[in-house]
Amino acid sequence: MRKLSVPLACVVLLLTACSPSADKAAKPAAPAAQVDAARLLAADDAANIGQWMSHGRDYSEQRFSPLTKVNTDNASQLGLAWFADFDTRRGQESTPLVIDGVLYVTTAWSKLFAFDAKSGKALWAYDPKVPGEWAVNACCDVVNRGVAAWKGKVYLATIDARLIALDAATGNVVWDISTIDPGQPYAITGAPRVVKGKVLIGQGGSEFAQRGYLSSYDAETGKLDWRWFVVPGNPADGFENKQMELAAKTWKGEWWKTGGGGAPWDSIVYDPKTDLIYIGTGNGAPWPAEYRSPGGGDNLYLSSIVALKPDTGEYVWHYQTTPRESWDYDNTNQIMTADLPIGGQTRHVVMQAPKNGFFYVLDAANGQLISAEPYVPGVNWASGVDKKTGRPIVNPAADYAKTGKTTFVSPFYGGAHTWQPISFSPKTGLVYIPAIQSSYAFGASREDDNPMGQKLSISFAKSAELTAKTNPKPVSKGYLLAWDPVNQKEVWRSEVANSGRSGGTLATAGGLVFAGNSENGFAAYRADNGEKLWSTDVQTGTMAGPVTYELDGEQYVAVQSGFRQTGNYYAPNYSRILVYKLGGTAKLPEAVPFVAPEINPPAAFGTPEVIAHGEEVYGRFCSTCHGSDGLSRGMFPDLRMSGSLQAAEAFKAIVIDGALAKNGMVSFAKAIKPEDAEAVRAYLVNRATIAKQAADARATAKAAAAPAGAQPHGN
Ligand code: CA
Repeated sequence: MRKLSVPLACVVLLLTACSPSADKAAKPAAPAAQVDAARLLAADDAANIGQWMSHGRDYSEQRFSPLTKVNTDNASQLGLAWFADFDTRRGQESTPLVIDGVLYVTTAWSKLFAFDAKSGKALWAYDPKVPGEWAVNACCDVVNRGVAAWKGKVYLATIDARLIALDAATGNVVWDISTIDPGQPYAITGAPRVVKGKVLIGQGGSEFAQRGYLSSYDAETGKLDWRWFVVPGNPADGFENKQMELAAKTWKGEWWKTGGGGAPWDSIVYDPKTDLIYIGTGNGAPWPAEYRSPGGGDNLYLSSIVALKPDTGEYVWHYQTTPRESWDYDNTNQIMTADLPIGGQTRHVVMQAPKNGFFYVLDAANGQLISAEPYVPGVNWASGVDKKTGRPIVNPAADYAKTGKTTFVSPFYGGAHTWQPISFSPKTGLVYIPAIQSSYAFGASREDDNPMGQKLSISFAKSAELTAKTNPKPVSKGYLLAWDPVNQKEVWRSEVANSGRSGGTLATAGGLVFAGNSENGFAAYRADNGEKLWSTDVQTGTMAGPVTYELDGEQYVAVQSGFRQTGNYYAPNYSRILVYKLGGTAKLPEAVPFVAPEINPPAAFGTPEVIAHGEEVYGRFCSTCHGSDGLSRGMFPDLRMSGSLQAAEAFKAIVIDGALAKNGMVSFAKAIKPEDAEAVRAYLVNRATIAKQAADARATAKAAAAPAGAQPHGN
């Protein structure tokens, strides 16, 4: 079973390799990325129909393209037009922009690449050189979801919480500012948006007990214009505005000491019809509401859609999907605006499929609930949403901190859907969602499992115990879901093999839906009934949102591949931008078969008690990244094969002294004592010895079974 991201500090060794070479001589002669409000409003006009100028294509963020040259009749003829490899195997989540023949795509570690969208020729590359140590401030990998473009510049937000404006023609830096106070452990993974000449950006980090906020910067100068905090600070310091004062009444205790959370880390949408921006806000910190706000309170404005005025950041309305959030149900997921036929009239709505498993349709002008129904089976944290009050009917058993009992809650903390883009086709009236059916055994613990500064207050040990003794195992599977938002019902689904996960989606007027998945596939489906019309092996998982564009009469489909949980750390890096067109004949290099490296541990040492202690420490602080039982989780080294096991000094130099901090493997000296590190080494040597004995036994058995006279041969 593949696991989705675990919200712990993922600090890792990473491979360093050369960047794709950027041809500095090949610069577009015409002014680049000339995007403005008029052009975005005319995104479907002939002049712009072939473009993908903003994160969700246009202001509505429906990720629907009016292009039709690739359609249900010919999708089977799609082939690779060009591709380019990236220099990191970390997770890839970027939605490219394609503007006037140039494709801009970001990668893990906040790097940005510009390509000729037709030929794939590299135009320029930009590396903001984020400190590797900053990886410890990213809950869920050093990913980046894309850039914004505005009047000749592209805007990139970085994992170390900078916002950078670049000349779109050259990649030269115009301005580079920090969005945080010095020393704060925030991280940014999301794509900025530009609205009315202002660059909007939030940040991630609710797991680190922070106070989330959205900022607005002048697109020309990088000067801060306004900032809207999601949760109130210490009342003794005074409130920034009326809404913070009102919100403070929904909190108890001394929440400000742990920040409260609420980081708006993904969705920011501008609606020209209402002249409002809608943001999705994050989960609470620590996770159990009973711990951060003992005795009650909705904890505004956590897990909400909030509407703000773009010119001032003034609050207009909010809808809290998950009051008293306790399950990591960030509500940051993609928000779309649309006109839907509801009750005999056309309603202008916002739609969202957030982590909590309910699909919401709200009036875009005032946030009034129109409908909300579970879009995956098994949702049990709430039995429904009260249409009169707009509040969920919460299952008391789901309040695990209050009951003190470890309880299976569905959806799990990764959500029924999270950052992977969804799309909406006005032609079919359906929303295409990478959906997940799952549950998780939530158990509260003030002491347990809070490694590296994260304030989860969740007992992973209790969860593992309950999961281990539950038979049959709870359902955990992903699928591409076509959802009717008017009638709030499933229309079709396409399940992903091996209980894998669907990637982000794109809908087109050609009657198609495109989506990748965790099982190395990228495919086109009929938008009306889910029939798979075309699929291709991309050699790695593809979770990012695809886009489509047209150049010189040909339609292209582009998607970024690279999935951090799949494959093996020692396997080749297949992080790429892949571009397809009808009749494309480019070929990916053959996938290199994975050959496990040799395990060669030093002599086993340590008493059974020391090894057991090492296992416990490893489980708390190392397993999230390096895998349970010492086994690799894909993007991080399998420590059973680590050369550092050979000597106590070498292991200590990395774990305690931070010798590999620049690569993302920071010192654990704050959490792990040197003697504990040595116990971890004893445990890993023990695991490596067992693995080596098993490998030797297999080799012996194979040799014994070989026919007489057979000669060994090298490979
Ligand atoms: Ca979260």
